[in-house]
Amino acid sequence: MECPICNSEDIETLKSKVTSSKKNEINDFLLKCNECSNVFKEHTTFEKPKPIRLIISENESSKRTNVDIYPDDNLSVGDILISDLGKSEIKSIELKNSKRIKSTIAKDIDTIWASSIDIPSRIGISVNFKGVTQAYKVDLNRDFRVSVDDVVKIENMLFKVRIIKTLKKKMTRGSAKASVIRRVYGDPVNYNKYSYDLTNKIAIKKGNKKKIISN
Ligand SMILES: [Zn+2]
Repeated sequence: MECPICNSEDIETLKSKVTSSKKNEINDFLLKCNECSNVFKEHTTFEKPKPIRLIISENESSKRTNVDIYPDDNLSVGDILISDLGKSEIKSIELKNSKRIKSTIAKDIDTIWASSIDIPSRIGISVNFKGVTQAYKVDLNRDFRVSVDDVVKIENMLFKVRIIKTLKKKMTRGSAKASVIRRVYGDPVNYNKYSYDLTNKIAIKKGNKKKIISN
């Protein structure tokens, strides 16, 4: 905004008022120019927020809701949304012509695809018994750190973490947060102590020492 008399942008807001029509939000301002002391009125008009379909995946299932967004707002993959289903992170944006893109303004969006970030992170655990693998899915707090060489109890066995597979790489040393871990590989050990117990975090137990065919 600038002064209509002297074009200065050194403007002070004396008063502002927000009113609302069916489609728009209108901001009325009473302004004063600090250069020439001219007092003048301005108004800005925004389209009101509109509901956009939001599909949030939580592990193997998904839930749908709507989220109100200003039509001119820009949305991008990675942005965090807050809806009645909690916080979620945008994973993909679908246009009205079904095309998927990474970033656009809200008015062009048909559906926002997101994943919940309020829920724990579900990761895989594979423990190798001489070529036979026992597999689990466990739900961990997203900030929980797993380190290579951790000795972990699960059910009635202890295993030592050998490899951590994250979204991006395979790690044979160091640690990672559960939020980026896909799977942890371990070997059984005969120790008397362990770092933590994941037994009550088990969500799914896959087969019973099922033979895994590897190539
Ligand atoms: Zn002025």
